[in-house]
Amino acid sequence: MTSKVSLPTQTTIVDVAIVGSGFGGLCMAIKLREAGNDNFVILEKGNDVGGTWRDNSYPGAACDVQSHMYSFSFEGKADWSKRYAPWHEIQQYILDTTAKYGIRPFIRFNTEVTGAHFDESTGLWTVNTGTGQTVVARHFVLASGPLHVPAIPKIKGIENFKGKVFHSAQWDHNYDLTGKNVVSIGTGGSAIQYVPEIAPQVKQLYVFQRTPAWVIPRDERTYWGIEKAVFAKLPMLRKLHRARLYWSNESRVWPIFNPAIAEGLQKLAEMFIKIQVKDKALAKKLTPDYTIGCKRVLISNKYYPTFNRKNVELVTDGILEVKENSIVTKDGVTRPADCIIFGTGFIVDPRIYMKDFPCTGLTGHNLVDDWKEGAEAYYGISVTGYPNMYQLVGPNTALGHNSIIFMIEAQVNYILDCMKTLKAQGADYANIKASVQQSFNEKVQANMKGTVWSSGCASWYQQDNGKNFTIWPWSTWKYWLETRKINQDDYVWVKCENQISSRKKQATTTH
Ligand code: NAP
Repeated sequence: MTSKVSLPTQTTIVDVAIVGSGFGGLCMAIKLREAGNDNFVILEKGNDVGGTWRDNSYPGAACDVQSHMYSFSFEGKADWSKRYAPWHEIQQYILDTTAKYGIRPFIRFNTEVTGAHFDESTGLWTVNTGTGQTVVARHFVLASGPLHVPAIPKIKGIENFKGKVFHSAQWDHNYDLTGKNVVSIGTGGSAIQYVPEIAPQVKQLYVFQRTPAWVIPRDERTYWGIEKAVFAKLPMLRKLHRARLYWSNESRVWPIFNPAIAEGLQKLAEMFIKIQVKDKALAKKLTPDYTIGCKRVLISNKYYPTFNRKNVELVTDGILEVKENSIVTKDGVTRPADCIIFGTGFIVDPRIYMKDFPCTGLTGHNLVDDWKEGAEAYYGISVTGYPNMYQLVGPNTALGHNSIIFMIEAQVNYILDCMKTLKAQGADYANIKASVQQSFNEKVQANMKGTVWSSGCASWYQQDNGKNFTIWPWSTWKYWLETRKINQDDYVWVKCENQISSRKKQATTTH
């Protein structure tokens, strides 16, 4: 006999709970609505949509994937201003898309998820939030992105510093850098974008480099008015342009799988440094000693020439300590500092990939423990032991060569197929089989061997033992092809004993 489970009246019950309203969460919401499902809620820790594009507003912030490709396939934009749009144009695109598809009423802002627990007697997820609200959902979608918790290194004496300190993802636009001595730590994707922008404004800029990055030319250009008009009038031409960008990006997988080709490209990249940096010793310091592509390849025409400026110094000695108004390196040199900017990236602990809250699944499954040897999932989406939980940009689905929006759309399509099949099966939950997940991950790790990512460097792509838990090691069209439909035999389909009273369900479902 089926028994009824009671819930506190303040609890919201929905079909789908989504965490995050960046590109992933919005795509999920739009496609749910298109499928006729308005029974969902988006839990968003920030005060607006946009995720990484809401947060990363530092000077010079822009996407290093072409905008016609870094946008939804179903929501083309004819009038991107440049090949690589600046952050505010991308954020505006996200705001416009949110409005067009009527997603805002489904979002609870300033609502951070603090825990998620699966109940196998009902087949439901209970999602707790920092506001005290609880959401109970049949499906739980993590669209919280891998890069959102700033990594701020512990530096001796930083607490005594009298100047300004901020992280690149928390840029203080009210702080005027004009005429200041500025220390910038880190030389990753964010720093190489803001360093050239702030250099002309500050009195002195010290760029602290631990490991140099490979930076290649940016094929930047502004779209002419006539092109934008043609794209608006003839969407087919815009789509052709997008297709051309897709395939030219896709061709970049060859150097990834053939380090010999990568080494050829590396020679060109070395020439680029020598052409752009006048001082030979400086050019040498800026040249990495690992194979190009091992860490994310960065694109900029402005970064290297910044070091030709008289007011910019590249500092490669390690940091010893920070004093009240200065920073001291291990070689004993003291440099005056009014402001310290951390371009030091984000916390990417594989055990908490995309979730810095406790998450428990079927009996005995706790994600922190299950992922202590490294985050793993099936196509980055389903994790064994966590039924009806899905991830966007989950383990081994990030990219170094093409648009992540393409992957997100494939993942959303797959998740909708899971939801549809669950209903068709008359089941309450579906759990990916452990054996299926394991053999998939063995193939992923086997394919990682011999790629540039395994050529020897440290990056956020890898955990401490060298296992790459972030990158999809094939072409994106392979991912698309393999996630077009679910294989029902990959999952165990379960009907639960306990059901929630439908009267209570109606009474508590709100947005
Ligand atoms: P990141 O690529 O992880 O770079 C962090 C930098 O800080 C590295 O140079 C790192 O040096 C350095 N660092 C970290 N801890 C340090 C410490 N304790 N002392 C000294 N240096 C330290 O972070 P990010 O630049 O914020 O970029 C993160 C990711 O965001 C990128 O990989 C990219 O995927 C994405 N991103 C994308 C775009 C875009 O246009 N699409 C733009 C910006 C960022 P080591 O290399 O030695 O660790």
